[in-house]
Amino acid sequence: MKKYIMIMSVLLAFGNTLFAQVKTQIIAHRGYWNTEGSAENTISSLENAHKAELYGSEFDINMTSDGVLVVCHGPAVGNIPDVQKASFSEVMKVKFENGEGVPTLEEYLKAGKKGFKVKMADGSTKHVKVKLVAEVKSAAPEVEEEVIVKLAALVKKMKLQEQISVISFSYNACLLAAKYMPGVSVQYLMGDKTPEELMAAGINGIDYHYSLMLLNPDYVERAHKLGMTVNVWTVSDKAQMDAFVKLGVDYITTDYPALAKEVIEENNKAQFGAKQLRLR
Ligand code: MG
Repeated sequence: MKKYIMIMSVLLAFGNTLFAQVKTQIIAHRGYWNTEGSAENTISSLENAHKAELYGSEFDINMTSDGVLVVCHGPAVGNIPDVQKASFSEVMKVKFENGEGVPTLEEYLKAGKKGFKVKMADGSTKHVKVKLVAEVKSAAPEVEEEVIVKLAALVKKMKLQEQISVISFSYNACLLAAKYMPGVSVQYLMGDKTPEELMAAGINGIDYHYSLMLLNPDYVERAHKLGMTVNVWTVSDKAQMDAFVKLGVDYITTDYPALAKEVIEENNKAQFGAKQLRLR
C-alpha cells in the first residue's frame, strides 16, 4: 500500500510539473474597449471581455452629485467636465460614438453577474462570467464612504462577493472596502505601501504600476508569502508583459488583452518545450 501511495505521489508530482501552465491571468483595463465598435467602461466592453474569455474586466466607479453610482473614468465624460459634480440625469444624456451611454453601476454589475453566451471557435456556445474589478475613484473622504457603503450594499444584495474585487488609488477607500465588504478582495493602486503594511491593514492585494513593480520585483514573492494577490497596471508592452508573466504576477491589467494572451501562450509553449527536453 505504502509503495502504491508513493508511486501515485510521484506520478501526480510528475503530471503537475509536466502540465503546469503560466498562472498569470488577464484583466481588461476599462473593459475590452480596444475593439471595433466599443467604448471604455461600457456594457459592450464588458461583453468583449467575456468573448475573449479573459479573467476579468476592470471598470471605474464615480458618484454623481445626486448620489448615483455610475461606471465611467471621469473626471470628464462626454461634454461634462466633472462627473462627480454633474447630476445623474445629465450623465445619462452622454452618448459615446458607438451609441452606448454611461452604465449605472447596478446595470454593469447585473450584466456581469448574468454573464454572456459566447460563441466558441468550434461553433458551440458557452456561458461565460468574468471577474468584476471595480475601481473606486478618489473623492472627498465622506463621499468615498458613501460610495463604498452603496457598493457594499449592491454586492451583498447581488451576492457578488466572490466575483468582484475592489481597487483604488485612495488608501482610505481601500480601508473602507476592507471594513464594509468582508470576504471581498481589495487591492491598493497607489504603490506607496509595502505588501506587509497593506496586509497588516486588512488590504489583501497589491495592484501597482508596472514601473514600480519592475523596481520592486521582490514585492511579488513578499505579497504571495502573505497570501496576497499581485496585479500590475497598465501594461501595453510585449516585453514587459513577458517579464511579469515570468515574475509570476497573478494578473496583468492591459488595454491589449490579445497581446497578453499571445505572451501567455508563448510562455506556456516554452515551459512545455523545456520540460519535454528535460524528460529526454
Ligand atoms: Mg481604472
